[in-house]
Amino acid sequence: MIEPQSAAQSSGHETAGAANHTRPLFFISDLHLSEAIPRTVAAFEHFIEVTANEADSVFILGDLFEFWIGDDILDASVADERAAFARRMAQRMHTLSERGIGLYVMHGNRDFLLGKRFMKAAGAMFLPDPYVMTAFGTRIVLAHGDALCTADPGYQRFRHFARNRVAQRLFLALPLRTRLNIGQRMRSNSEGARVQGMSAKYDVTREAVAALFAESRTYTMLHGHTHRPAMHRESDGTRWVLPDWELDIDAPHGGYLRLDEADIRALPL
Ligand code: MN
Repeated sequence: MIEPQSAAQSSGHETAGAANHTRPLFFISDLHLSEAIPRTVAAFEHFIEVTANEADSVFILGDLFEFWIGDDILDASVADERAAFARRMAQRMHTLSERGIGLYVMHGNRDFLLGKRFMKAAGAMFLPDPYVMTAFGTRIVLAHGDALCTADPGYQRFRHFARNRVAQRLFLALPLRTRLNIGQRMRSNSEGARVQGMSAKYDVTREAVAALFAESRTYTMLHGHTHRPAMHRESDGTRWVLPDWELDIDAPHGGYLRLDEADIRALPL
């Protein structure tokens, strides 16, 4: 939980840890973008092109993409609609830095293979999970949220494996086609997983939340992942849960958190 070296070096503007923000900070997560959900993609593009103009910086706290098979999908030589989509998203995001707006991207449990090459193409700085920052004089801890779901040992075992560098290298060594097929299958599987998402097993645990408040020495926590947007006043601090975005279904929803010197607010799209 230290300021990453690269953040200060590669950025033309204030680092995420600096306290000199004058404009608000925006936080989003769990958009689960893919070319299969055009309305959600359009909402993200609108957010980047219009909404974000008010912001000092945009923080994406994981699961921006439904699945990320490796940065080599950005290669111009890859002729595939999914590759074209990935390139388009990176280009859109890059317009933020061109307008002097900071962009910080944290891994989620679905797009944890987003690498240096993507960050460069998107004009983004990578944020480790968890990440402690100071904004408007307040220390805040940011996390995706999956590491806090400790009542699901099966998932935590998967998480441990998926974050293993050797396992990642083996996956990335597979042909791009194979990885695209795996990504497609992961997506169809996750359609069914939405239903089970309501069980308490898939929410954060009190113990994990308390531990993160204590270890980060903060009283404010922002995370996503659970798709249960709320503001919880815990005994150790205030925990904001970011909304997921889903605009291609009957009950479209999505939103962001806006932090300024006065307060934190949950806003709709
Ligand atoms: Mn997630």
